[in-house]
Amino acid sequence: MLGGMQEFELRVPRIIDHAAREHGEREVVTYWADGQESRSDWAGVHRDARRLAQALERLGMTPGDRIATLAMNHGRHIVAWYGAIGMGGVIHTINPRLFDEQIVYIANHAGDRVLFYDRAFQPLVDRLKPQFTTIEHFICFDPPAGADGFESLIAAEDGDYRWVEGPERAPCMLCYTSGTTGNPKGVLYTHRSTLLHAMTEVSPAVFDLSPRAVTLPIVPMFHAAAWGLPFAAPMAGVKMVCSAVNDPKVLCLLMNREKVTHSAGVPTVWLAMFKHIDETGEAPQHLQLVTIGGSAAPRMMIERLMTMGIRVGHAWGMTETSPIGTCGAPSHDWDDLDFEAQVDQVVRQGRVPFGVELRVVDDDGVVQPRDGASSGRLQVRGPWVLDRYFRDETGPAIDADGWFDTGDVAVLHPNGTMQITDRSKDVIKSGGEWISSVDLENAAVDCPGVAEAAAIGVYHPKWDERPLLLVVRKPGATVTEAEIIAFLAGRVAKWWLPDEIAFVDELPHTATGKLLKTALRAEYKDYRLK
Ligand code: ADP
Repeated sequence: MLGGMQEFELRVPRIIDHAAREHGEREVVTYWADGQESRSDWAGVHRDARRLAQALERLGMTPGDRIATLAMNHGRHIVAWYGAIGMGGVIHTINPRLFDEQIVYIANHAGDRVLFYDRAFQPLVDRLKPQFTTIEHFICFDPPAGADGFESLIAAEDGDYRWVEGPERAPCMLCYTSGTTGNPKGVLYTHRSTLLHAMTEVSPAVFDLSPRAVTLPIVPMFHAAAWGLPFAAPMAGVKMVCSAVNDPKVLCLLMNREKVTHSAGVPTVWLAMFKHIDETGEAPQHLQLVTIGGSAAPRMMIERLMTMGIRVGHAWGMTETSPIGTCGAPSHDWDDLDFEAQVDQVVRQGRVPFGVELRVVDDDGVVQPRDGASSGRLQVRGPWVLDRYFRDETGPAIDADGWFDTGDVAVLHPNGTMQITDRSKDVIKSGGEWISSVDLENAAVDCPGVAEAAAIGVYHPKWDERPLLLVVRKPGATVTEAEIIAFLAGRVAKWWLPDEIAFVDELPHTATGKLLKTALRAEYKDYRLK
């Protein structure tokens, strides 16, 4: 028997239709790489996206075709998403910070037919053009004055266009993982997964959005779709502020002038913001909620933001989870907790919103209790979790019950909060016991004089592996090995203490700002502890 309700396919263009109809005057502001600014609104994005859809059809694009971008955050980039998706295409955001070979691999693997790019990436495009095997059209978002580009492409169209219809399980977006292990892998989101994910993000469990919010995503649109904000913001009638530059001075100026209430970014962008505040005394005045994810938010970062009166949502996720897996909305007893206990809670990675299911299993696949102590491999399933990688002939990436193994190691607490303790590849195995490299690093960066730290396991004749801590000192700091060890002694188990600390000038990072442990492990492969 069928129910009596309407078929209403969960298609992404409905988001921008809704935004234009119900919140048409809510602005979309852009600060461009050359310092110029422009303003549109959701009605304008809707109009321009339809013109772009017409233009893409004129170029011969058909539903299912991949349309790529190499671009920072700006209004035209958002138009490109909705225009490409609206004509049935698949928008593919390429991360310009990847290595050349990875960009070439990704674009060719995706079979991209069009590439929209920022003028800032012109040298990159010129360099790689001969190696792109499928791209037919290269269109600059912000060409030099007088040259053809995005605006002249859509200028020829009238916007009288109906979105291509289709099933909600058709693809709409393609994002590649950053490939810390082997070749990057493509995750092909569907209209349905994207819409359900955005609806969840609007809720208090995640970004807590409403028409009163003004958002400035610092997370780039090429990093897991700016965590879905370009979909969630128009859905909720939020004003959106985009900056094509990540300079904290500019971000702070925009935040204050546009009265930004919500922002989101990886931990390093907040470190840069703190530095700006310390140097100039100028701080964001209107922020209410800052979401931090991508890697663990250090305790001192959470404390500092909370002391500024800002709520911190600590989110965990990955490209394979669209990306929101968990987020730290305050618990029911939040108001009864003192400041320290509140920080303790936010240091964890939050809880799942409805839709996501988590479990932790040991190496034999045995499901572990949610007791706040048993750690194991974190597995996830849900309507916006990966089923199989794009063009991967080896089959599904999940087990028979739908569980996807995240490669993270975590603990689940009885109150539902989840705590990442490491990535399974990064765990240091000492005498058969696990040492969390993340805990060691987080404790180390709280030590005065330490700017950044990375813990890796290196060979040890008796214990198999022991921790080596690589430390970058803050400019001018003279902190010593003995001082850091003494600092750590009160904060981690004695047998976790690094056998040695090596001071380095810098640490390698991935294109999304994470520590590149594979490079460190390769570099220190033959290292012998003193
Ligand atoms: P990649 O794995 O290619 O770097 P992602 O950007 O998808 O690409 O990274 C996902 C990973 O980032 C997660 O599996 C997890 O290890 C890490 N991560 C994300 N958010 C957090 C967080 N809040 N705390 C700790 N680790 C996190």
